Amino acid sequence: MINPEFSSSITALSGVGEKRAAAFARLGIFTVADLLTHYPRAYENRGICKKIIELSHEETVCIRAVVSSSVKTSIIRKNLRVSTARVSDGTGFIELVWFNNRFIEGRLKKGETYLFFGKVQLTPKKQMHTPIFEHPEERKQLGKIMPIYPLTEGITESILADCMSQALRFCQGQIKDSLPSTLRNQFQLCEINYALENIHFPQDGNAYRIARRRLAFEELFFFQTALFSLKKRQNRCQPPHVKADITPFIDSLPFRPTGAQSRVMAEIARDLSAPCVMNRLVCGDVGSGKTVVAAAAVYAAVKSGYQVAFMAPTEILAAQHFNNLKKLFAPHNVTIELLSGSLPAKQKRETLARIKDGTTKLAVGTHALLSEDVAFANLGLAITDEQHRFGVDQRRLLTDKGENPHVLVMSATPIPRTLALIVYGDLDVSMIDELPPGRQKIETFAVNESYRKRIYDFLKKELAQGRQAYIVCPLVEDSELTELQSVTAYIKKLEQYGFTASSVGILHGKLKGAEKDKVMTAFKNGELSLLVATTVIEVGVDVPGATIMLIENAERFGLSQLHQLRGRVGRGNQKSYCILLSQSSQEAAIARLSVMKKESDGFKIAEEDLKQRGPGEFFGTRQHGLPQFRIASLYSDMALLEQTTKAARDYLDNKTPCTPEEKTQITKKIDALFNNRVTIS
Ligand code: ADP
Ligand code: MG
Repeated sequence: MINPEFSSSITALSGVGEKRAAAFARLGIFTVADLLTHYPRAYENRGICKKIIELSHEETVCIRAVVSSSVKTSIIRKNLRVSTARVSDGTGFIELVWFNNRFIEGRLKKGETYLFFGKVQLTPKKQMHTPIFEHPEERKQLGKIMPIYPLTEGITESILADCMSQALRFCQGQIKDSLPSTLRNQFQLCEINYALENIHFPQDGNAYRIARRRLAFEELFFFQTALFSLKKRQNRCQPPHVKADITPFIDSLPFRPTGAQSRVMAEIARDLSAPCVMNRLVCGDVGSGKTVVAAAAVYAAVKSGYQVAFMAPTEILAAQHFNNLKKLFAPHNVTIELLSGSLPAKQKRETLARIKDGTTKLAVGTHALLSEDVAFANLGLAITDEQHRFGVDQRRLLTDKGENPHVLVMSATPIPRTLALIVYGDLDVSMIDELPPGRQKIETFAVNESYRKRIYDFLKKELAQGRQAYIVCPLVEDSELTELQSVTAYIKKLEQYGFTASSVGILHGKLKGAEKDKVMTAFKNGELSLLVATTVIEVGVDVPGATIMLIENAERFGLSQLHQLRGRVGRGNQKSYCILLSQSSQEAAIARLSVMKKESDGFKIAEEDLKQRGPGEFFGTRQHGLPQFRIASLYSDMALLEQTTKAARDYLDNKTPCTPEEKTQITKKIDALFNNRVTIS
């Protein structure tokens, strides 16, 4: 937003020497422009003055009063000097108090009027503690709305505010707007100089809102324009030509696709035969039937003479996909192979050879597919399941195995569409927002500790009838115990309640991938009836016999995570249960869990989760890739996001009239964004 003219070093401001510049550098501020985009993290309204008679206990407020008695200082003990003064405003008196402030006596004059700002105490005495003050006409720190900035050692609130006003004067009215005026008119956005002035020193609440909206718009607009233009660039390359009727495949399915599945299959078929490469994300709740949608794409590609790579995050998921796909493709003469990390060397060599010469049409596997020795004859489509488990670079490694293959990624994280636009800006998004018919609702309970015995009795009863159950315990962070110790303690507790240890499997964070898979497979095959997991159970693993999901300390999980966990059960035809056990008596925690009781739609839960926790928490650390904004908020600026999406698309479609100069500005901004970002491919 700031032009190169404002790239002068911060030392151009008076009062900023080398030492202070070094402190500013710690805040990431090197230039005047950097300073101007160092936005306040909050504001303090020092603009409203109250009468002394109106003051209430513990409020922080501004008063305008005259000093009625000179400052008196008493030394209480060696290191404690207390200075007091009485002031009045015609409605009453109040005593002002400072501690160890040697300058007060010289600065505050009897009979003069000042603005005072501080915290009020009404008991035991009517006092204001350590107020800051100035003459009313000064209006430097008081009588207005003051910004509160992120600070660092050596940069105080008042130094920063002072530098900021200097910087604003330095650039006054000269900053060129990087948003074309047509765009500003269309979306009723204020001009940049006004926006900067009022984001730092807002005249009033309204001016602040106008300024903030403009700056947030700008940030989102450039981000999205950059993402969308990236997609346009990708789309220019010549894609594999896939044109095959998927009807024979659909007709061979043991069920009818849902409306949502049919719609998404059609979207994919259209992409595959279009003149540009497909980059599509299929987003669908657990159990919504993403596999068969991906399989339809496989069918089309293979029948058009191409090979397909299908990548899953774990061995067990890869094996599960392999078995399902083998069944689906049995009537269709599609050669399919599993490239597993555990294949014996000779077999692996042969598998690789068949992939390389094109005999194998569909290769299913884990990261093993990415390794250097894997080569395809003509890869036309690359599919990734549970895409958030793979980085963008891994996705690219896979597509590099072919010549501009089409890309299909699948995710079970139900993400609100508005957010998908940002996170997966380089992908088109398809939503499978409907479950296959006949799915039963998973009975969900949110209970506290007093139910433990009843829950365990219920568990035992179900297990005795041959059912299986999961118990998920989050790690207690402040505990001294290691993960292993706390699981062991938990298993002991289960034994005391009469569970047989030999039928209990354990999954914890210290287990290696292969060991995890072993436990999971044993559970899947019914050799274990109870699975205790301290780490989140693999998404997507199908164990139809599992009917109970018990989650300990459920209040520690996000709603979307709870929903994902709940999706592990109810995969067979038995009635299934999800029990959320919570130690918390906090109302908010209970209200959150109660959303789970009534809601079974992952997208609605995701919206709710997003609303309650904001996007940072919502995505957690595992699903990174969410951009950090300086001023825009993905949570509160949803409506704005829709406007910037339109603005960005219109601009790229040349529907926004702008001067050549305005165009150059935008291009510069976008290039700068690309240079700073490594997370987008
Ligand atoms: P996810 O979206 O979680 O990957 P899957 O693709 O594993 O879901 O499908 C879950 C189950 O639902 C599978 O057993 C699959 O065969 C079944 N399924 C998928 N689509 C339908 C449908 N339209 N009607 C009935 N069952 C379906
Ligand atoms: Mg799946």
